[in-house]
Amino acid sequence: MQSYEILSRRRRLAAEFPDHKLDALLVTNLVNVRYLTGFTGSNALLVLSGSGSVLFTDPRYTIQAAEQTDCDVRTVRSELLPVISAFLARKRFRSIGFEHKDISFHAYDFLKQKLRLGVDLKPTEDLVKAHRMVKSQAEIDLIRRSVQTSSRAFSLALRRLRPGMLESEFAAEIDYQMRRLGAEKTAFETIVASGPRSALPHARPTSTPIPPDQLLLIDMGATQDGYTSDMTRTVFLGNPSARWKTAYEAVLEAQLAAIGVIRDGVRSTLPDREARKVLQHYNLDKTFTHSTGHGLGLEVHEAPRLGRRDKSVLKAGMVVTVEPGIYLHGKGGIRIEDTVLVTAGGCEILTQTSKDLTVI
Ligand code: ZN
Ligand code: ZN
Repeated sequence: MQSYEILSRRRRLAAEFPDHKLDALLVTNLVNVRYLTGFTGSNALLVLSGSGSVLFTDPRYTIQAAEQTDCDVRTVRSELLPVISAFLARKRFRSIGFEHKDISFHAYDFLKQKLRLGVDLKPTEDLVKAHRMVKSQAEIDLIRRSVQTSSRAFSLALRRLRPGMLESEFAAEIDYQMRRLGAEKTAFETIVASGPRSALPHARPTSTPIPPDQLLLIDMGATQDGYTSDMTRTVFLGNPSARWKTAYEAVLEAQLAAIGVIRDGVRSTLPDREARKVLQHYNLDKTFTHSTGHGLGLEVHEAPRLGRRDKSVLKAGMVVTVEPGIYLHGKGGIRIEDTVLVTAGGCEILTQTSKDLTVI
């Protein structure tokens, strides 16, 4: 990521401080720290203010921080919190925002005790995350690459899939292929769920052998250069019954209907409603037990949510998943998930993997 892009993120955020009556923001969420500084270490706090930004970390990261960020870096040999509180007090900020979902009670209590009377510690909600929702061209390029890695890994792994292979073995094959193609890690624990276990929307792979003549649900994604991808495909080993074929067509139709309404300016509830409408037609809507999708970027689950109650409006540059599914207890489940880029006039499906029913 270019440093001017990261600098402009900090500037845009600081420009909002007067609206929120803030002099400074203490950023404790490490993903937000990364977004605002470029620094990827595991121990850091950022103080952002109109007059500049200071990143606090420990000596393990001295070299890395110098390489990754153009912020003022302070290396602290002890715990960060006492040093930060002394720094905040010295700066004489009157109103300091903190990320209320990303701070421990201990840290909040400590700051409250150490800062002088008259300093207002203000809880903020998703200030940085609101910026992260709309992706820059550089971010879109990174997500696109992560999506490609995931898709290529899937097709390479699929060649090795045979009935009798353990779920965990196939999951390991997928993970191996993603790493081999340049992913630094999986975006989440790969889901491989066979037969009736595919009815568990978030099943963990087990040491169960993958049975013949059954559904197999695979949900996977890569993290590459920090950016995630997320894809689900449901394949069939052996010959699927006419019922499963119809169910698969229903889920695919629901997914395409949801994708069909995505564009800049529509409410994020609309794709969800469209997907449910299709499934209702097949009398399967009650088996669709989660929301239709979610944003992704530096994290695999970000705002907005494509669900019944979300209040967001889709904007060009948002990247979301579209993943309706049906889950029949004791029988099996089908989910089809793509990663999609919202554009001015519609959307672009980033996931290139085929959605025809794959029979192995
Ligand atoms: Zn997924
Ligand atoms: Zn997902």
